[in-house]
Parts: sequence; structure tokens; C-alpha cells
Amino acid sequence: MKVFSMNDQPVVIIGAGPAGLTAAYEAVRLGMKPIVFEKGDTVGGIARTESYKGYHFDVGGHRFFTKIEKVDELWREVLDEEFIKVRRMSRIYYNGRFYHYPLRAFNALSNLGILESVLIILSYLSSQVWPYPKEETFEHWVSNRFGKRLYETFFKTYTEKVWGIPCNQILADWAAQRIKGLSLTSAVYNALFGIRKAKTLIDEFDYPLKGPGMMWRRFQEKVDAGGGQVRLHSDTVSLKHENGRITRAVYVENGERKEMPVEHLISSASITSLVTMLDPKPPAEVLEAVAHLSYRAFIIVVLIINKRDLFPDQWIYIHSPNAKVGRIQNFRNWSAAMVPDPDKTSIGMEYFCTEGDEIWTMADNDLTAIASRELAALGLADPDDVADSCVLRQPKAYPVYDHEYSDYLSVIREYLEGFENLQTIGRNGMHRYNNQDHSMLTGLMAAQNVAGSDHDLWTVNEDEEYLEEDKNKEKLRQLLPENTLIRAFARMDKLGFATAVGTVSGLLFFLATLWLMIRGRAPGSPDLEFLSEYFAGYSMTVEGAFVAFLYTFISGFLFGWLFAYLRNLFLGMYLYHLKKKAELLSLRDFVDYL
Ligand SMILES: Cc1cc2nc3c(=O)[nH]c(=O)nc-3n(C[C@H](O)[C@H](O)[C@H](O)COP(=O)(O)OP(=O)(O)OC[C@H]3O[C@@H](n4cnc5c(N)ncnc54)[C@H](O)[C@@H]3O)c2cc1C
Repeated sequence: MKVFSMNDQPVVIIGAGPAGLTAAYEAVRLGMKPIVFEKGDTVGGIARTESYKGYHFDVGGHRFFTKIEKVDELWREVLDEEFIKVRRMSRIYYNGRFYHYPLRAFNALSNLGILESVLIILSYLSSQVWPYPKEETFEHWVSNRFGKRLYETFFKTYTEKVWGIPCNQILADWAAQRIKGLSLTSAVYNALFGIRKAKTLIDEFDYPLKGPGMMWRRFQEKVDAGGGQVRLHSDTVSLKHENGRITRAVYVENGERKEMPVEHLISSASITSLVTMLDPKPPAEVLEAVAHLSYRAFIIVVLIINKRDLFPDQWIYIHSPNAKVGRIQNFRNWSAAMVPDPDKTSIGMEYFCTEGDEIWTMADNDLTAIASRELAALGLADPDDVADSCVLRQPKAYPVYDHEYSDYLSVIREYLEGFENLQTIGRNGMHRYNNQDHSMLTGLMAAQNVAGSDHDLWTVNEDEEYLEEDKNKEKLRQLLPENTLIRAFARMDKLGFATAVGTVSGLLFFLATLWLMIRGRAPGSPDLEFLSEYFAGYSMTVEGAFVAFLYTFISGFLFGWLFAYLRNLFLGMYLYHLKKKAELLSLRDFVDYL
């Protein structure tokens, strides 16, 4: 990794989304004066807040939740008391009924009915006993964890709406990457101490009073106040390079084409557009790789409804295949300040699509008509109550992880790593399905790299997992004396334990027999003669002592072996239960990650 030097030439950042703004904020903190080019008319990128006649809405509701302490600190530092806590309420609509999500046993069972519930449980048990031996597809991966029937009920349709392809064509790797497995240490830690915290992270979240855009506008103000510049309506269109360095950025600001010298370039523009901006052009195989990376797009149809309380959820997942809508947001339930009129509700009907497809190219009024019809068909509002609407299209909302993306991404990455003063950050900048927090962390680290640090941005997500793992290990170490856990949960050696118990009991009876024999028999003194009823050939003689040794050794050995076997079995079952419990907890909000 290269080390950057500081000088008067500008640090140029492309994009004022969470990643770009965090990079700029950190650069200002480190004494630089970054220039941020943002092609849009507002900051926040995909995490911006849009407004229509005073109704604020997100490009898909944006929860603020993170395990990364530094990011959490930054959010609080920048927004302080305007950061509200929201108690989560969300449901899944399936087959004419609403199910609490994360699922609640009683609600799910009563909605599904006895027969279906039993079938789901049987299918779950069968998946545990006879899982797909090789998890090749998303369908295999989910069925192995939840059972095929639960997968078909709650996961299949929605996933297919989001990604636009059948689940048996989505790679298992994708699910495994999004939902990290748990090591035994983490599982034990979570099961013993972490459940409450994990549940809290799922059951409540932070949210800026007027939507995520409020956070990003604050970041913008702080960057500007610190001597940096966030320049809106500034579309970077070309990047000149020479001898492995980006030298100039060409941008169109409010319609005027301009150029700026570049000392360091940090880009959160999509990696595909970054490559095509390079002048001279990259080699053919890099351009070919770019052509193979793809994205899902996203449309939100906002409906203003003449009703105060439509439903209590912040959002509802629509698993019904009959409706095109994938998810429905109710923005006043995120924060009352999102809606200017307390007698109205603003609903976001979310459609996942691909740029250029039937939904993407549909006229706004047709989309509004479909959205109003679908909202009514779900029984959530009366079409006559729809007072107004607007439509927002978001290209490149989701970087697609198909079976070839990783190889093509490596080709692009390797080529870009040849530029000593270029770093790519964020979600589309790295073609990573990142939330705000990981996008921000890459921005933060990129700015630190400019000042001389040596972070490898491409390991950000994995590093966080390791960090979490290390933290769990450390906490366990603090809570329990050194090696207690290892000793307590270690497998018992059956042969060793059996031999030890056999030898001790054999010797005990051998010596007892000899001792009683030597001492002689006195009235009322202990007597082992009764053993002859159980041990054929036993008497209180030297030969008898050997007979006693043999019998008690064998019975002690058998007892010890059985004890060790059962102890290992029950401990194994307990550990399996702990791991399953922690795993199920980590999968509790699985649909949120699709
Ligand atoms: C529907 C949906 C729901 C989501 N929900 C959540 C959630 O609940 N919680 C969460 O944490 N995350 C959520 N996310 C993810 C979150 O939106 C992203 O992680 C985050 O916005 C990524 O930030 P970024 O800065 O990397 O990229 P972006 O947000 O994409 O920002 C990139 C910026 O660069 C600008 N840009 C691009 N090219 C150029 C150019 N050539 N010149 C100048 N400017 C340019 C763009 O206009 C944009 O403003 C959600 C995403 C989607 C799609």
C-alpha cells in the first residue's frame, strides 16, 4: 500500500454520498482542504432525503445501525440530539396475511394454521437431518438453514423481486457473504451474553429527525466550514492520467466544462463509470470487465394519502407474487417530522427493476396507477384517498453479485491499483453491497491513507468481522479466568478417563481387601466378604484382592467410559444448541439483508 504525502495540490473526492462526505470530513479533520464534486443537486447519494411539497422521503427507508464504534461516534458527533431512536415495527405480507418480521412464533403459527406450521417444522427438521450436501445456490443455502417450506413461504418471492432472477440462479456465496457465519467463540459469547445487544440492534434503530439527508447536510456544512468545498451540480466526466498518476479532473459544473489539477483522487462514483472516465482509455480487457458488472435499479412511488394512520409499520415486505411492489414504506412512522400535515400519510411503494426494463421505462402516471391499485389490493388504503404522488428513479441502487462479477472486479481492481494516487471507496465505488457504515469506513480510511496511513480498504468488511470476533474473545477472556472455557468445553478422553476410574477403583478394593485381611477380623469391624456374592471367586485373601482388583477395574473402566461418552454427548448437544440459537438470532433479520 502506498503512502501519500501532503502538499498544496487538492485532494479531489468524487461523490457527496456517505463515503465521499466521510472522506472529506476526515480530510478536513486532518488539516486538508478537500474538494468534493457531486453531480446531483443535493448530498447523501443513495442515502439522501428527497422532498415533495414538504413531504420528506428516503430512497428506500434508511436505518442507522452499526457495530462499528467509530461510525456510531461520528453520527452522534455530527447530529447529536436530532438523532432519534425508533422502535422497529415491520411485517411481511404473504398470502393475504401480515406476519411480524422478525418472525414471532405465536403470530406466525396463528397466521399459518396448525397444518402448515407442522409442515414447516417437519421441513425444518428434515433440512437439519438431510441438508443439501453442496450449497450451490441461494435456494440451497436458505433451505439448509430454515427448511424448504419456510424458504418458499417467506424468502423466495421477495428475493426474486429484489434481484430479478430465480433463487436457484443466485449463488450461495452471495448469501454467505451477506450473512456471516458464526465461529463457536462468537456463538458461545452471543448465546451467553450478547443476545440482548443483538436483539436491540434488530429491534430499534437510530434515525435523523428529518431523514438521512439531514445527517449528510450536516456533514456538508462541517466540510465547508472547515475549509473544504462540496460542489453540487459538478459532474466529473474525465480523469487525465500520466505515468500511473491521475493528474487532472475534468468536470462539468452548472453546464460549464472545467478542469482541476489533482494530487490525490478518492472516488465513490461507480467503479464502472470511473474506468470509463479515464483518459487515455484503459486496456481492452479492463473495459470488457466493466461491461460485465451490472446493477439493479430502484423506483419509489410516493403516494400522499388523506388518512392519518394507515398502518403502524415503518415498512412492510410484500412477498405476494401477485403484486409487483417489493416493499412499502410509511415515512411518518420513521419520524413524524417527515410529514408536514398530521392528517396525511406519505407512503413509499418500492419497485426493484433494471434500467431500461418495463418498470423502469413506464410513465410516471402509469406507475402511480399501479402503485395506488396495489396499495388498495393489499387492503392498506382506499384509492380515492390518494391525494398526490411523485416518482423517483434511482439507477445503480444495488451492485449485482452474479457468478462472474468477482473475477471481472479483480481485473478492474488490479488495473486501478496501478495508479498511485487513486483510491476507490463506498458501495458502487468498490462494487460492494455495503450499508452506510461500511461505505463511510472506507471513506474515513481513504482520507487517513492520504495523510500517510496504510489501510487496505478492500478488507474493510472482513476486518470488521475479525474485529467483532476478537472483541468477543477478549470479552470472554475478561469474564472468565484464563482457559476456563477451553477446559470446561474440552472433550473428555474416554479411554484415559475409563482407565483412570478403573485403576483407582481396582486399587481401592485391592488395598481394602489386603488391609482388612492383615488387620484380622474383629467383631463389628467392616467386612468385604459380601463381595463374593457379586465377584465370583472373591474372598478376603491375597488372591481375592487380585480378583477384587480385576472386577472393580473392569466395572470402573466401563462406568468411566460411559460417563465420559455421555458427558461428551450432552456437552456436544449443548454446544450445538448454543450455536444454533446464536445462528438463528443472527438470521433473525435475514430478509433485511436481501
Ligand atoms: C433501497 C435501499 C435501502 C437502503 N437502506 C439502507 C439502510 O437502511 N441503512 C444503511 O445503512 N444503508 C442502506 N442502504 C445503503 C446505502 O444507501 C449505501 O450504503 C450508501 O448510500 C453508499 O454510500 P456511497 O457514498 O458509497 O455511495 P452513494 O450513496 O451511491 O453516493 C455516491 C455519490 O456520488 C455521486 N457521483 C457519482 N458519479 C459522479 C460523478 N461522475 N461526478 C460527481 N458525482 C458523482 C452520486 O451522485 C452520489 O451522490 C440502502 C440502499 C438502498 C438502495
